[in-house]
Amino acid sequence: MPPAQPNFYADWRARHGFAAALRENAAAPPEKLLQAVWHHQRLCRDRLRLLDGRSVRILHPGFWNHEAGPDFRGAVVQIDDGPPLTGDVEIDLHSSNWHGHGHDRNPNFQNVALHVVWEGDARNPAPVLELKRFLDAPLDDLAVWLGGDLAQSFPEALAGQCAAPLRELPRERLTTLLDQAALVRFQRKAADLQARARQCGWEQTLWEALLRALGYKQNVWPMQRLGELRPRLAAKRISPLHGQARLLGVSGLLPDELTRAQKNTDDYLRRVWDHWWRERDEFRDCQLPRALWRFNGLRPANHPQRRLALAAHWWADDTLPARLEQWFLADRPDAALVESLLEVLQVNDDEFWSWHWTLRSKRAAKPQPLLGATRATDLAVNVVLPWFWVRAGNGKNAALQARAEQRYLAWPAAEDNAVLRLARQRLLGGTRLPLTAATQQGLLQIVRDFCQHSNALCTECRFPELVRHWQIIGA
Ligand code: SF4
Repeated sequence: MPPAQPNFYADWRARHGFAAALRENAAAPPEKLLQAVWHHQRLCRDRLRLLDGRSVRILHPGFWNHEAGPDFRGAVVQIDDGPPLTGDVEIDLHSSNWHGHGHDRNPNFQNVALHVVWEGDARNPAPVLELKRFLDAPLDDLAVWLGGDLAQSFPEALAGQCAAPLRELPRERLTTLLDQAALVRFQRKAADLQARARQCGWEQTLWEALLRALGYKQNVWPMQRLGELRPRLAAKRISPLHGQARLLGVSGLLPDELTRAQKNTDDYLRRVWDHWWRERDEFRDCQLPRALWRFNGLRPANHPQRRLALAAHWWADDTLPARLEQWFLADRPDAALVESLLEVLQVNDDEFWSWHWTLRSKRAAKPQPLLGATRATDLAVNVVLPWFWVRAGNGKNAALQARAEQRYLAWPAAEDNAVLRLARQRLLGGTRLPLTAATQQGLLQIVRDFCQHSNALCTECRFPELVRHWQIIGA
């Protein structure tokens, strides 16, 4: 047999990848490697022991959390002969990182069931598992494996119990099932809007829901409150700048001090304060505490100051509901849905906010729109279309209801997020589907209806049964 040809690519990868990093710093493997080892359970699983001597079985390693908080959420572990415990898993290089990284003071870490470390001692409140004694291969080999596709993929063994029956469905049947789940979500949102409209009318409900949606994940409640205050804050038509002063002032997001470093921002703040100092006493009773707002992991484009600047433009004009109605009633090809709605929701250039993401950021090199296509999609799917659908239902107009549903089902996919990624991995495994906003909403509805009532092992989940019934009636 001729000698194997040297593989430059493989050699280079081995020399510069994790394996090389390990050789340079043999005492401490990269934390990412430990996380991958845990994710794929590259451990001698049948002989795991905690540092305090108790045996531990990993019934499920949990789901990798790429956001703030413990590394794995929702693991299921059994210590000695005790009952299975559901909790989070934090992975660190050393057990002393528990205090060193401030996990002991962070409420996000309250549900940690297992502290998995490379090495350490058993002095932490959570049970400690030392990984280096239980690897199923030498660390160097694992480092090479981490560079491969398998380590990057979602482990097949972590797929949900519904993944197999879902995989057997013809593509169209699967899409229809997800669309049906999406319509349940759509109608639930519409019902929420209807309930609110009974109290405050359709237009006010629309304003509240739009502001709430602008709050994105972290700031839904303060934005909702500002929406509720609209009858008072926008009782008379005022300029966008005046509206921004009022909204920033009432929200508690208006700084008291100038930056003294950025002239543009200081000029803007002076003009805003010119308005706000005259009326802050009038609105003192409804001013929100700044502590209500969350800024962790927030992208500048989603900063509430910027969202309030946009809302001030909408309120200054006041024709938005009528323009939305025209948009809804006009015939539009599916391909033009996002752009045409964005045109309605977009506002004129703003002297300050077109050039700044927040009140702290420097002037941008080129102007940025106050609303992007991603947020327009979010507003369409969560607010605008359910609002038109439920109003059409109230008016017994089946044709308009069908139009709202058709646009909802045709809407292009929204931004991806961690919940959706995990749902796709657990439920759909390798099945590739053309993603639409409705497919995403359908997945979220299934997570809400089923995954959130079960655990990582899918205990007593009835969704696989639902899928099998769906298979039978489609056969
Ligand atoms: S809990 Fe149910 S819906 Fe969620 S992944 Fe498991 S079987 Fe599927």
